[in-house]
Order: sequence, then structure tokens, then C-alpha cells
Amino acid sequence: MQSRWSDDEARSFVERWADAGEPLALRVYTSRLVGAEPDLVMHGGGNTSVKIVRPDVLGEPVEAICVKGSGWDLDSIEPRGLPAMRLDGLRRLRALGSLSDEEMVNQQRTHLFDSTSPNPSVETLLHAFLPHRFIDHTHADAILALTNQPDGERLVREVLGDDVVIVPYVMPGFALAKLAAEAFERRPDARGMVLMKHGLFSFGDDARTSYERTIAMVDAAERFLAAKTAGRLPKPLAASEAESGLAAARRDAARIAPVLRGLLARPSGDPDRPWRRVILEHRATPEALALLGAPECEALSRRGPLTPDHVIRTKAEPLFVRLDAKAPEAVLRETLSAAIEDFRRRYDAYFEKQVAAKGVSRTKLDPDPRVILVPGIGIFAAGKSRKDAAIAADLSEHTLRVKAQADALGRYEPLADGDLFDMEYWSLEQAKLGKEAEKPLARQVALVTGAAGAIGVGICLELARAGAHVVLADVDEKGLEAARAKVAAAGGGAAVAAVRMDVTDERSVAAAFAEACRTFGGVDVVVPNAGIAYVASLAESEADRFRRVIDVNLSGYFLTMRGAIPVLRAQGTAGNVVVNASKNVFGPGADFGAYSASKAGGHQLGKVAAIELAPLGIRVNMINADAVFAEGDTPSGLWREIGDDRARSKGIEPGRLEDHYRERNLLRARITGAHVGRAVVFFASNETPTTGATLPVDGGVAAAFPR
Ligand SMILES: [Zn+2]
Repeated sequence: MQSRWSDDEARSFVERWADAGEPLALRVYTSRLVGAEPDLVMHGGGNTSVKIVRPDVLGEPVEAICVKGSGWDLDSIEPRGLPAMRLDGLRRLRALGSLSDEEMVNQQRTHLFDSTSPNPSVETLLHAFLPHRFIDHTHADAILALTNQPDGERLVREVLGDDVVIVPYVMPGFALAKLAAEAFERRPDARGMVLMKHGLFSFGDDARTSYERTIAMVDAAERFLAAKTAGRLPKPLAASEAESGLAAARRDAARIAPVLRGLLARPSGDPDRPWRRVILEHRATPEALALLGAPECEALSRRGPLTPDHVIRTKAEPLFVRLDAKAPEAVLRETLSAAIEDFRRRYDAYFEKQVAAKGVSRTKLDPDPRVILVPGIGIFAAGKSRKDAAIAADLSEHTLRVKAQADALGRYEPLADGDLFDMEYWSLEQAKLGKEAEKPLARQVALVTGAAGAIGVGICLELARAGAHVVLADVDEKGLEAARAKVAAAGGGAAVAAVRMDVTDERSVAAAFAEACRTFGGVDVVVPNAGIAYVASLAESEADRFRRVIDVNLSGYFLTMRGAIPVLRAQGTAGNVVVNASKNVFGPGADFGAYSASKAGGHQLGKVAAIELAPLGIRVNMINADAVFAEGDTPSGLWREIGDDRARSKGIEPGRLEDHYRERNLLRARITGAHVGRAVVFFASNETPTTGATLPVDGGVAAAFPR
């Protein structure tokens, strides 16, 4: 590992954050340098601090410490991500014999300069009790490969020498802060401190020194590991093998993901919304496949995480399961189900054993695996959102690598179960349980066809706002990217995906559903929406153009619904299909035969699907919208194409068409894509026990009332 320090960059940070003062600006800079190395810290792991003098409200200079706040990642931190506290007040706490975690957090907040700051790190007191101006703390992979060994202390000494303080494992908090400060005071010339089975601290009087000490120590550990483990790690796949292996892994993952996702869903106890689902992230890299294929991987996976805070994200161990990907779905389900049941039983036993041993009472967390390792297929990570699943997947990829290195060096030895339990069931973590209200479509995946159009964008935006993960599908790739960007801005990038899909092509439809399964683990809400129109009287309709409308609007709906069924069935957790039909179904107009007939067919197909899919708990409902000309700045491609013809056949000026539609409905309403989207969300949220129904979204058109 090499230093990323650059004088020019450092200067630009000092200029950009001039208001914060030079020390804090440089603290932001080197924090970001640390954050840029996933081998040092990932996803909120690690923290940094700086001690400065700043005036209080009376203008008097006060010694302050700025420590990374929760909710900030080092790679993107800003000065306000390092809340300032009165140093003197924190240091006085050291006189106490003990301090509860809750009171520690309270004391940290009490000493903030700005009461609106995020909570400073739970390792704040450790930073405060040490004298150095700059302190960098990481969970560096290479250091953990040394500390997580039976003779870890000897290895650390061998690699880092005598001017490093070694602190045995103690859970983060007040006791660790005191212990670390005492250890340091016995070696005041130390350049760093290794916390066994936890991570690394480095210090300096300036930002660069502290940062570069971290890099130097990690670099030494990396070189040592590379030398000692050369030729002893699982061999990476050869290039040709890697390519076919990855292709097979991706194909198999698409098939396995919905089965796995269904088995990981838990009954919610709410009859209207009976499932609490997960989002699944699949990862397969040549390295991960090679590591998973090694004979020792299974036993190694059972030995706990690299550093204690991973346990919150990944649980103490992953589920390791071997699958014959070619087996029928029922066999895959049986194998996975048995493995998950076994995992749950072992987790329950671990929980019971620990609460009994410690004599404490705790609210038990769900016993489900967060990480599922499948040789030949890759890593599946589960979370309440794609973001959470991706974090668990990232940690898992690193864990596979570092455990293999550590085991090649000696023997990988994790923290004891009791220590992991303390972290997993930390009172500060327990306090957060059940406090988070979820949006109505949280943990669900929706796939919308024709997503680049005005109605499609409106539907996707409303689904994203309701908490769904959204797959935008469209044949228009350029429009698709623009739509994806819009929806991502509303729903968060990780929760939004786009896939090219031609609804008239069976293979394209299957590929799109497979992609949804690889990206999010499956699909719960399907919205057949892609459509085209053609304005011509029956007498003048060209057969080819008529067939094309039927092909896209009716056969396209058929293929989309048929493509969804295997995924919904594999999950076994019900779901919703919401068919975007049309006002025309009940209120047809002249010169619009192809469109009206195709939409009436799609509407009827929806009713048949409602009957056929009810035994699976899948609801199918229809929306009859009147003309939507735009959603925000997304114009309707359909109306741009047929608007003039349609106006002509109605005998009105083309520019008057939108007003014409508005004025003819009872409420004089202009219909937007968002209106259709809200109707989709209504059905998809299971607000009422309704299937096979039609909801008009047309401002009230008496001639098109459902009947
Ligand atoms: Zn830490």
C-alpha cells in the first residue's frame, strides 16, 4: 500500500474548507485518503480525529476534538462530518471507574459545540484520552490477518517492531478507551497502536504523519503476508475458465436467487401484507469463485468475522451451502431450505447459550443468514435494501480473501462467540430495533415495462417514493437511461436498475427477469405498461400495422405476465400485477381500433390472470387511464406520434387536444403519469383485498365507467 498524499491536493482542501481552518481541512483530506482504500476501511468502518482550538460563543479559545460522526463515510467526509466537542470535558471522564454506553453517548452529545451534529463515533473517548493532534483508526485487512491468529501478538511484533502498542481485545467503549490510554502512557514514543482482533491506530502531530504511519504499517503487514503466503493461497481461475465460470455463475444465480429470496422472507403476522422480504445482491468475481471453491473454505467460513463491527452487517458467520445448479427447482429449494433451517437452529442455540452464560436479557434478532456462500455460483448477501445487501456483500468479499490469507499464514482465529455476541447485542444497537418505520413497498422489487415513457416514468417514480426497488424496462435504450437517472434521483441509485427489454421477444423478456433476479433477488410487483398506438379506421387500417399494435400491446402484456410467473412462483411470497389498460376498454373511439382492441385484450388477460394466480396469493388489477400527455418533463412518445392524427379524427385543432381531453372529464382534470403511478402503488401495497378490479384514472368519463 502506498501513500496517496499530494501537496497540491492538500492545498486545494485547505482552500476549499478555509472556513474550517487548516487542521480540520487537512483532517478531511487525509480521512478521505484513508477512505479511498477499501483494504483499510469500508462502509462507515474506521474513524479519524483532530484536536484544535476554536472560539466558543463568547469568543474565548477552547480546546476541541473533532471526531468522525455516525452516518458519514471517510471517503466522502466533510468538516461537518467531524463534529467538534470540548476536549477538557471529555478528558475529565477518565477519572470515572466505569461509564455505561448510553451515558457515554450522552456525555459526547453534551460536550458538542453544535447540538445539531451527528453522534460522534463510539470510539471518541479513545481519541480524546490520547494526546496526539491527529489520530487515524482503521480496520486494515492486512493487520487483521496478523491479529486474528493464535500467536497474533508475536506476529504483530515481528512485523511492526517494538514502537507499537498492543492492546488486547476489549469491546469499543469507555473501558477500551481507558485501557488504550494506559497502554500508550507506558510507551509514549509509540507511532501506533494495534487493537487485537479489531484494528489499527496511528498518531501524529500533523495530518500527513499520522496518515503515512498507517500506510507504512499496513504496507509492512501486506509485504509480510505476501511473502509468507506465496503459493499457499487458492489459485485464481485461469482467464478462459474465469470467463465461462462467471457466465455460468450469473446464469445460475438468476435461477437460484428467487428461491433463496422466498425462503429468507419471513411471515410478518399482518394478513394484508403477509411477508417481510429481503433484497438480495449477487456477487461473483474470479477471485471469489476461486476462494469459494477451495476445500477449506467451508470450515473457514464458520470461523467468525475479521473485526467485531462486521457482525452487525454479516452476522457472525455466513451460510455456506453447496448446490447442484442443474438440479430441478424443487431440489434446489429443498437443499436451501434445509440449510437455512439448520442455520436458524444454530443461531438460536448461540443466542440461548450466550444470554444464559451472561445472565442478561436481550431482544433476539432474526436468526437468518445475511451472507450465503455457494461454491461455483458466488456470494448472495441479504438486506432490507440493496444498499444494505451490497454492504454485506462487500464485507463478505474482503472477509473471504483475508481469512484465506490469514489461514495460509498460520491459522485464522476469530473473536470468541461471547465477544461477538456483546457486539451483536450491544445496548446501543438494541435501542435502534423496531424504531424504523418502513415505507409501504420497502423490501419489494417492481418491474415496469415501457418505463421510459411518460406513464412509465410516473409509475416508476411513485413506486420508488413508496420504497420499492425499481427495474425500469424499455426497448428505447436512450430514453431508458434518462428515465433511470430521474427515478434514481428520487429513489436512491442503488434501488434503481434499468434493463433493455423488447416485450415482443420471449428471450428478451426472460433475460430482463433474469437480470432483475441477479440485481435484487427477484420481482414482487409487475407492471405491464409498454404500448404503441395507431390511428386509422378499420376500413383504412393496414394489416401489418394492426398486427404490430396487437403484438406490442396484447402479446407484450401476455409475455410480460407469463415471464413473471416463474419468478413469483419460485419466491412463493405472493405479489402484485398491475396492468395498465386504458379508458378505451370501456369507452372506445373511432379510428382507434387496433389500440382499443389490444387494450381490451390486455384488460381481459388481466382478469384471467387474477383467477389463475389467486391460489398463489398474487393479485392482478387493472388501471384505466385516460390520455397522459406528459409526466414532468417526460413527454408521451405515443401522443407525440399519434396526437395530430387523433386530433384530426376528432375534428379539433392539434394544439387543443390536451385541453379537449381535460374538458371532457367530469372533474376537468389533467391526467399525469404520477396519477397512474399512485394507482399502481395503491394496488401494490395491498391496501384492500382486491383482485381482478379496474380503477379508472381519467377524471371521470361517464361513457367509460367500468361495467
Ligand atoms: Zn474500530
